Amino acid sequence: MSLHRNLRTAAMSHSPMTTPDAPLPVTLLTGFLGSGKTTLLNQVVRRLPRTAILMNEFGAVALDHQLLQKMDGPMALLSGGCVCCTISGSLSPTLKNLWMARRNGDIPAFERAIIETTGIADPAPVLDNLLHDPWVRARFRLDGVVTMVDALFGMGQLDEHFEAVKQVAVADRLLLTKTDLAPADSVASLRARLAELNPAADIVAVTHGDIDPAAIRNLGLWNADTQKLEAARWLKPQRYRPASAPRLGGKSVAGTHDTRIRAFSVELDTPLDRFGLTAALDMLLSFRAENLLRFKAIVHVKDEPLPVVLHGVQHVLYPEARLDAWPNEERRSRFVFIVRDLDPSFVEKLLADFAGAATETRAP
Ligand SMILES: [Zn+2]
Repeated sequence: MSLHRNLRTAAMSHSPMTTPDAPLPVTLLTGFLGSGKTTLLNQVVRRLPRTAILMNEFGAVALDHQLLQKMDGPMALLSGGCVCCTISGSLSPTLKNLWMARRNGDIPAFERAIIETTGIADPAPVLDNLLHDPWVRARFRLDGVVTMVDALFGMGQLDEHFEAVKQVAVADRLLLTKTDLAPADSVASLRARLAELNPAADIVAVTHGDIDPAAIRNLGLWNADTQKLEAARWLKPQRYRPASAPRLGGKSVAGTHDTRIRAFSVELDTPLDRFGLTAALDMLLSFRAENLLRFKAIVHVKDEPLPVVLHGVQHVLYPEARLDAWPNEERRSRFVFIVRDLDPSFVEKLLADFAGAATETRAP
């Protein structure tokens, strides 16, 4: 059973949002320096006043919070380092302090939190913190990852910093800023590149922080407004090329960039063996975590009537969820992956061999 350590059975389908102590949604806001995170936050706290902001202040110079205008919502600083590495241990205590202060009535009863990371932060360790601290997990739920990309400098940042590519790959929503300052053709090629790096994330252009708050809410599997797990909207498998499909023209659509990055889908018809699936995912998460930027899946597990939802970012596996119905008639397992330096056909074969072949050998 040790193989099950990653595939948690805690089902999220029991609508936790309806209880008074429902976990509060948390948005992770990432994006390189200058992508406009502070400007955006200024607008967000006005339009969503019951928002707590956790700001990662990095270094003595970047006093971002001084740029935030006076606001009603509570704010906490994660200072003295970067929340993804040097001060990663301070995220959970900071969330705990905020939650306790809220409960004791010391601060306004915020309804959501936004964690703003430093520009260079790797989102995976921050997600790890959020998802795997039991205390935090019982009181906060990750709603989604929002990544801001600067239309003027985004292309260069993606070329030079792999962290920027990771931030795009893990995003549930991409906000493209300064489109009014950049030439239309370079905005178009940046959009094409982003769509290729992360096909499922919708791209929303934002100028001067002017944003509809709906654009950064309900981005994950759970929609708090409809009180439903919305798997089809979340997975969007049709936007990915199948693992077996040859790369167009031998290189990426957007040009010669990102030739090491592949976004692809794997579909398997036969119900998957639970042990085989766990072993295959363990292999990917343990040995290929650096190559596995992100995966999402709706899986037909053998002998389980309802679809299982899986979601991972590098070595970090989200709590497993179970849908209360199949999205459509075909009870087929659908995976989508964003990888670096990993052959899509290797991943497809690994899943098919482990999760599929195990089914055959166990069959009577
Ligand atoms: Zn860091």
